[in-house]
Amino acid sequence: MIEKQRAKELVAQMTLDEKIGMIHGDQLFQTKGVERLGIPPLRLMDGPMGVRSEFEPDAWKAVGFSDDYVTYLPCMAALASSWNRELAYCVGDVLGEEARGRGKDVILAPGVNIKRSPLCGRNFEYFSEDPYLTKELAVPYIKGVQNWDVSACVKHFAANNQEMNRFVVGAEIEDAVLREIYFPAFYAAITEGECGAVMGAYTKLRGEFCCQSQTLLSDILRKEWGYEGMVVSDWGGVHDTDAAAKSGLDLEMSVTNDFDHYCMAEPLKEKIRNGEISESLIDEKAEHILMLMMRLHMLDGERKAGRYNTPEHRMTALKAARESVVLLKNEAGRLPLSKKCKRVLLIGDNAESIHSNGGGSAEIKALYEITPLMGVKMLLGGNTEVGFARGYCREEDIVESEMNWQEKSMENGGGVTASVIEVTEELEANRRMLREEALRMAQEYDEVIFVGGLNHNHDVEGQDRASMRLPYGQDQLITELLQIRPDAVIVMMGGSCVDMENWVDKADSLLWYWYSGMEGGLALAETIFGDVNPSGKLPETFYKKLEDCSAHCLGEFGKEDCNAYKEGLFVGYRYNDTFEVEPRFAFGHGLSYTEFQYEEPFVRQEENQWYALCQVSNVGTQAGAEVVQIYLAEKEAKEKRPVQELKGFEKVWLKPGEQVQVKIKIEGYREECEVRFGASSRDIRLQA
Ligand code: BGC
Repeated sequence: MIEKQRAKELVAQMTLDEKIGMIHGDQLFQTKGVERLGIPPLRLMDGPMGVRSEFEPDAWKAVGFSDDYVTYLPCMAALASSWNRELAYCVGDVLGEEARGRGKDVILAPGVNIKRSPLCGRNFEYFSEDPYLTKELAVPYIKGVQNWDVSACVKHFAANNQEMNRFVVGAEIEDAVLREIYFPAFYAAITEGECGAVMGAYTKLRGEFCCQSQTLLSDILRKEWGYEGMVVSDWGGVHDTDAAAKSGLDLEMSVTNDFDHYCMAEPLKEKIRNGEISESLIDEKAEHILMLMMRLHMLDGERKAGRYNTPEHRMTALKAARESVVLLKNEAGRLPLSKKCKRVLLIGDNAESIHSNGGGSAEIKALYEITPLMGVKMLLGGNTEVGFARGYCREEDIVESEMNWQEKSMENGGGVTASVIEVTEELEANRRMLREEALRMAQEYDEVIFVGGLNHNHDVEGQDRASMRLPYGQDQLITELLQIRPDAVIVMMGGSCVDMENWVDKADSLLWYWYSGMEGGLALAETIFGDVNPSGKLPETFYKKLEDCSAHCLGEFGKEDCNAYKEGLFVGYRYNDTFEVEPRFAFGHGLSYTEFQYEEPFVRQEENQWYALCQVSNVGTQAGAEVVQIYLAEKEAKEKRPVQELKGFEKVWLKPGEQVQVKIKIEGYREECEVRFGASSRDIRLQA
């Protein structure tokens, strides 16, 4: 390879100091370049929902200029609900162009960790509980990003499924499980997606810190998978100079500003000088970084220019938001509502809250963010009176986006379980007042829409939720609301499921709305009022209760030192479907305002590749999209395996009365198996 040769030649001309400068952070998001050789610094930046705002080079302090507002894209969980590969590509393309526009080289996304428990604070940043769905969307997303002479950085390698104690906590996972569940998205990201960079995880895997792991980074990533891209640590994830230097890690980044004292800075130089560590190890790291720079045309050639905040980017954000909304329940065709209605009331703090500025490293400065309240007003115009009642409020002392949380995050194992707020008399009185006001107003309006759920005080880096319960007394509010307004539309927002036991059977209609980007509120309004026919499908199981999730009933979660993933392969629906534990809403579930019929299933082999085919028709009255899902059920599983697994899907758009033949490539079958065509993992329509 010419690049490799050229990288070697460049490294041969470099002093030890120059090499060391390239392999550790010299600023919070930047390395040192080598000016005399024409090597620029490498500029990295978060994150998945847009390019994060600018910080001072050596302090977690916002620069605070007005030039770093960006397009706010739907979170990964929202994007995953679209089950749309082309859309994932387009969203990645926007992020890549904006990263380039902001002068960045590496964008620290996407996160492809498996959503093992609904409690993980970063679930909104991750795609799915299913490795196949995750990889099918992550790969095009990465390709989109990398259109722009910018590298994506797939993270956090590997099995970073808990925030509590994340600087210390370990995971015990069997080999086969790692390879079937936790690795495939990373493997696909680097092989199919040709992802330029990989970020290690803070956590430990089988006793080794992931960011300096011989097993993960050297044996698996480098040797077995042949990866020659850049491997960067998570910020502060390196703990030991020897281990880091000898592992497949290339670049150490951290959250403190004592840059020279990073493990791969002065301490490493010392060890090389006194012969404890071979300089050739460092050469290899610098070479990987140089090869990435060449690929991004940072050393020479013409590098693409990117723009940010373009109208086209906002259209992509809107399109993605529209496809991310999941209609969970719609009894007696309650939705859509008529746009002609005269008076609409929105209840709930989330109808009116901004979310883009929270969540941890995924926070951004959004150019704007359309809330549901604004979306409804924008859509209905002046002929409808749109009222608002907060209904509940955020009770935590919100230290809004304290800038240096990241530096402090390393203290005490770095990550907590959310504390449960004590309900004092004062709090109770406040809740009662807001609730009573909302309930009183609810009787006065033609239509009532409740928008609640979580926010980034709960879906946040460095913290796991304590339970699936809804915060802020929402259960009581929704229950009482549905008593007086059984027709109220319920909208839930959040990065993973919440406990709905108290009220879900009483609600006719229920929508799930994630964190859906700058146009999210408009997309939601368009869906509620029928301009958009919902097509989102859950990329994860929504459990009735926490004990129905395998990570909690079979495995361990939330332990301080180490979690044994005893559930093995039975993650998400793989557990619920095999052990017949009924979910609240199944993996892959999502309704439409129209109906789809499946017919004529068969499988066919073409040049060693198997395909599943069936006819799908829109037998309803509206145009809409359906995601046909293929689950494989092995006939003679030799060992105890999940009863079925997702191995293919295709999204089709059909006008009323229209019919198409869907042809779906089947991946990763092991033996003779039954092919199931489903509208969700629990709604299997056909078999072949
Ligand atoms: C997060 C990473 C992020 C990095 C840089 C860490 O706290 O775990 O996902 O990219 O910070 O902000």
